[in-house]
Amino acid sequence: GQNKLVVGNWKMHGRRQMAGALVRDIAEGIPSGVDAALCVPFPYLEMVSGLVNGTALAVGAQDVSDCDDGAFTGEVSVGMLAEFGCRYVIVGHSERRARHQESSERVAAKAAQALRGGLVPIVCVGEQLEEREQGRTLDVISAQLAPVLALGSEALQALVVAYEPVWAIGTGLSASVAQAAEVHGAMRAALREVAGSSADGIRLLYGGSVKPETAADLFDGENIDGGLIGGASLKADDFLAICQAA
Ligand code: 13P
Repeated sequence: GQNKLVVGNWKMHGRRQMAGALVRDIAEGIPSGVDAALCVPFPYLEMVSGLVNGTALAVGAQDVSDCDDGAFTGEVSVGMLAEFGCRYVIVGHSERRARHQESSERVAAKAAQALRGGLVPIVCVGEQLEEREQGRTLDVISAQLAPVLALGSEALQALVVAYEPVWAIGTGLSASVAQAAEVHGAMRAALREVAGSSADGIRLLYGGSVKPETAADLFDGENIDGGLIGGASLKADDFLAICQAA
């Protein structure tokens, strides 16, 4: 099968010097047989792109505007990201859905815009603890995915989906393999309804407190094609150990 994909999401962490050192350490240790990327804050994209040039590490951003260049104060266009060597862009992270009121429709529009600009969107979905406790997990995921599925088969085959249960993010409490595999199985089935057997090539990442100790079991889970790594992507040893497990 295809390589697993391990993506670090630095979120709003780092200073220039720390970022440079971390990227160098990670870039030189990426094992073969895994696809790896770091999604870094916008101001560091240029430096990080330069540092990973010629290495196995790819670069991504953490958000993108759904609009073409124009009067959109504070937003960053996909054309700008492409100039800085981005291959990936995270869209719809739960922190943006919560803090910036991003709807699932807006998230799908961002994914479509990323694809138009030649980037690979990593579309994040995930339920909150209360929704899980109410037995609504699969309904929530299905609703979040619906506008993305509407982009059609060709778009779906060019994007990545990340399942990140909100209660697992930054809490140290990863979903179990069974919990993740249940959601990933449901996502695969939904993708197959649009893309047929081509849906089997769409990479589904798990994110939420992935650590070196838990990564191997998660990556062995059915329909788990890699990980989206927050805290552990800020330590070279941890991120590389997770890449090793993939
Ligand atoms: P943690 O790995 O810190 O739980 O963060 C997960 C995440 O939100 C990655 O996008």
